[in-house]
This record gives sequence, C-alpha cells and structure tokens, in this order.
Amino acid sequence: MRTRRYFLKTVMLGAAASSFPGCPPASAPARPTEPEAPHPLGKNLGSERFEPCHAVRDGGTWASAPVTATCDVAVIGGGPSGMTAAWRLRERDVMLLEKEPRLGGSCLLDEWQGVKMSTGGAFYTETETALVGLLKELGVEGTRVKGADSLVIGGQPVTDFFRDGADRLPFPQRVRDDFKRSRDEMLKLYRTRPKEELDAQRFSDLLKPYAPELTQFWNRFGPSNWGGGASETSGYVGAEAYSWAGDSEDPRRTFPGGLGGAAEALAAKLTPKLGSRVKTQVSVYRVETEGTGAKAKVVVRYLENGEPKALRAGAVILAVPKYFARHVLTGLDPARAELLKATRYAPYPVFNVCLKSAGPEPAYDNWFLDEPFTDFISADWIVHAGRGPAERKTALTVYHPLPEAQRVLLLADEAVLAMADGVAAGLEKHFPGTLEKIEEIRIFRRGHPMFIPTPGHLKVVERVAAPVGPVFFAHSDSSYFPAFVSAVEAAETAVGQASKRLGFSR
Ligand SMILES: Cc1cc2nc3c(=O)[nH]c(=O)nc-3n(C[C@H](O)[C@H](O)[C@H](O)COP(=O)(O)OP(=O)(O)OC[C@H]3O[C@@H](n4cnc5c(N)ncnc54)[C@H](O)[C@@H]3O)c2cc1C
Repeated sequence: MRTRRYFLKTVMLGAAASSFPGCPPASAPARPTEPEAPHPLGKNLGSERFEPCHAVRDGGTWASAPVTATCDVAVIGGGPSGMTAAWRLRERDVMLLEKEPRLGGSCLLDEWQGVKMSTGGAFYTETETALVGLLKELGVEGTRVKGADSLVIGGQPVTDFFRDGADRLPFPQRVRDDFKRSRDEMLKLYRTRPKEELDAQRFSDLLKPYAPELTQFWNRFGPSNWGGGASETSGYVGAEAYSWAGDSEDPRRTFPGGLGGAAEALAAKLTPKLGSRVKTQVSVYRVETEGTGAKAKVVVRYLENGEPKALRAGAVILAVPKYFARHVLTGLDPARAELLKATRYAPYPVFNVCLKSAGPEPAYDNWFLDEPFTDFISADWIVHAGRGPAERKTALTVYHPLPEAQRVLLLADEAVLAMADGVAAGLEKHFPGTLEKIEEIRIFRRGHPMFIPTPGHLKVVERVAAPVGPVFFAHSDSSYFPAFVSAVEAAETAVGQASKRLGFSR
C-alpha cells in the first residue's frame, strides 16, 4: 500500500502524456476552476497480494515441510464461498486458509471518514434465495435499493432507460424504441428458450436486430457485471441480464459498503466460532492427494510468514479461482487441467472517489458509454437514496474493468494512477464541479476476481467443478455467473460432497 499526492496540473498532464495502452484518453475537464492552482488529489493504491500466486504460477519451489497439523476438512480461500463452506462445517474439524490479511475476497469493505465503500461486490437480488437464506441465518438483511439506474450521456442522466425513460434518451426515436423492444423480446427469449440453446450463442448475435447503441451499452454493462463484452458473453447470461439490469422486477438489496457488508457479517460470525482454525496471510501453494480411493487424504502445503508448512486433511474444499486451482492441485489429468485453464477472468481495479461534500448522485448505479470506466455507484445511496445532506462526506465507487490483455497494467503503478486521473477527469466532464470536491481516490486492484461467462460455459461448468478424489471445488466460478450467490451455492454443493465422503450427517 502506498500513498501518493499529485497536483491537478500533474494529474491532467499525467493522463494526457500517458503512453500505456488502455489508459484513459486525455479528456480535459469541462471547467477546470483554476488550472494553474495546485489542487491536491491524493491517491491510495491498494491491491490483493499478487506475489504468492505469481510465485506459484512461475514454478516457485519450497522445501517440503513436515505435516504439523491435521483436520477433517481444509477450506482454501476465505472469500464468500470459502467462508460459507467453513460456516456450514463450523461444528466439524475444519480449517480455513486465506492468503489476505482479511476474509472477504472480492467483497471487501473499505471505509473513509465514516463512509463505507465497496471495493468489489455491490448488490444482490431478492430471488437469490441461497444468499437471502444465508443472510437470514446470520441475522442480517440488506436494504432495498431505491429507484432505477441512470445512463449518463453528455452529463445528462436518464433513469429507467429500458422502459419509460427510453423516450428521454438523446438518441433518434428508433434507438429509443429499440431500448424498450430489446427488453421485451430478450425477456421473452430468456423465459421461453432452453437455457443451453441460448448459452451456445454469443449475446452479441442476439443483439444484432437492434440499434448498435444497444451493443454499445452492453459492452459497458457486461464488463462491469461479469467481466465480458457482448461478443464474449453467453446469450443466456445476456438475455437474463435484462431481468435485472438498471432496476427490474427482481428488487436489489445491499448494505452500506455493498456486498462487503454481507461478507463482513459472515466473517464476524465465523471468526469467533473457528478461532485459531482460521488462518489469514497464509498462501497455499500445493495440494497433493495421498493414496487412492476411499482412504485417500490430502496434504495442503502453504506459506506462513514466508515459511513452508503442511497440514493433512480428510478432504479439501478449494474455494479459489480455477485458474489458480490448476496451479496448486497436483495430479490433474491434462484434459481437466485444460478445462480449468480455459476459464477466463477479467482484471478489475475499483476506484473509490472520496468527496468532501455530496457529489453527483442521480441514481444508485450510473452508466457511461464514453469513459474508460463503466459506471459508478453512490456509496451511501443505500442510506440516503440521493437525498442526504449536501455538506456530508461521501464517495463514488467507480467500476473500471479492464480487458484481459491489459491485466499486466495492474502491476504498473503509474498506469493505475493515470487511470485514477482519467476517472477524475471523466467525472468532471459529465458533472462539472466534482473535481474540486475530491479529497482522495482509493484504488483497489484485483487480477482475476471475475470469471467471464463465455458462450458455451454452461455446458462445461459441471465438468470444471467436478470433484477430484477428496478435493472438492467451491468458488463462484463453479457456476454460470460470477456473483456472491453463486459462491454460496458452490459452497453448499462442495460441503455436501465433502460431507458425504467423510460420512458426516448433515
Ligand atoms: C468489482 C466487482 C464487482 C462485483 N459486483 C457484484 C455484485 O454486484 N453482485 C454480486 O453478487 N457479485 C458481484 N461481484 C462478484 C462477487 O464479488 C464474487 O462472485 C464473489 O466475491 C466470489 O466469491 P468467492 O468466494 O467465490 O471468490 P473470491 O471472492 O474470489 O474469494 C477467493 C478467496 O481465495 C483467496 N485465495 C486465492 N488464492 C489463495 C491461496 N493460494 N491460498 C489461500 N487463499 C487464496 C483469495 O484471497 C480470496 O479471498 C463483483 C466482483 C467484483 C470484482
């Protein structure tokens, strides 16, 4: 974690002069108040810990430590999925190993001067029954998100843009009609066509009958919500998204700080229950199956304070992304390893723009067609619904997914700092006056947080997540969509499989 302070002049020049591919274009703010006056723009650059996983990927080797601990089930990965699995097994002999200092995975909270902000997951919907049930069990419930989202064009936010609001979009009438028509027709497809048939198609092909502005919109919405643009997205996922995009008949709920609030509630219950059986800052680098058949056990090798350690478990639940599972799990057959390798992930920095006083808050989630970032959520919308005191401190959580080819930029601090400049400039362009309210931009980088549900993914996902002896797979990438609820469902499945193997009654 590093803190830098730039000046506005430098910020603008920095964005303009950047030669990194994918950095934002040098769009000058519409009305810089005093371009020559120094204007501090603090940036706080954070990230998940990349080094341990990169060392494994690059073939790092460590001395083979003796086994010093045993348990029935070792859960690897303390994101929503691993935490759910450990919660379900809390009365058993379970251990949870997480590489970061905090549990939460891609649903971590950040807090700035009392404002809770998400660094990842934003909301859930009321039909996500597995998650709704888990939250109820934990004694928490998100608040309903009020209002429809906005599409911001030329600084003008238009809410409810797939329904009545479409008529206010600054597009020709046929494009406005296509916003509404595409919704009706896609929902019909989603409800009447077999899942597999839709999944086999590219979402971009389903969008061909409509104005190109629709594809343009989904090329923003898709990367923000599932990592991929319309041509990389399963037609099933795209058609289904019409049931919840921009507000819908399936109401959204969340917590201050987004789904970080849900992860925090789970961690708060789990941690005291498991005590020393939760280990953080522990990176698993190898998972080896010993023996065969019903008697097989698993040796889990991990680094703790840089030291190699090992434990033996009756079963392992791997709740880490599959791209990484393939690096740690030994003895995978080549076809299975290829399948794991084929799952694709979007790199994803999130910028929390901290404001001295209320900034733009036309709606909960606000979409852009012409910025390097895709959307922002007003961090305290869930508390004030856009009607809070004007003088309050607040934040905008700006989502800035990147194409896979630009993943390497996350390791180039200057490139990420230049993206923050682009975020500030983009906000100022659409909402003049925002720039001078910015007190700090807090950045959180993740390399592979969101798997992309590509066409045909539904067909292979069961094979991707099938157990390998005593090793069971959780994580949201065991499902057809990257969401908290998928993480919960995958955990429930893996816990069922592990329990059956170990003869636990549930
Ligand atoms: C920007 C963004 C916005 C999102 N918005 C939403 C949303 O609005 N709604 C929604 O439902 N979902 C959303 N998601 C998706 C949601 O956050 C994920 O689906 C969810 O976090 C997945 O949980 P998980 O436990 O499967 O995986 P993760 O959250 O990825 O957790 C995996 C855990 O494994 C740990 N780990 C990895 N390698 C190792 C190792 N070698 N040893 C030990 N531990 C390891 C990681 O540190 C991490 O804690 C969003 C995601 C992002 C990134």
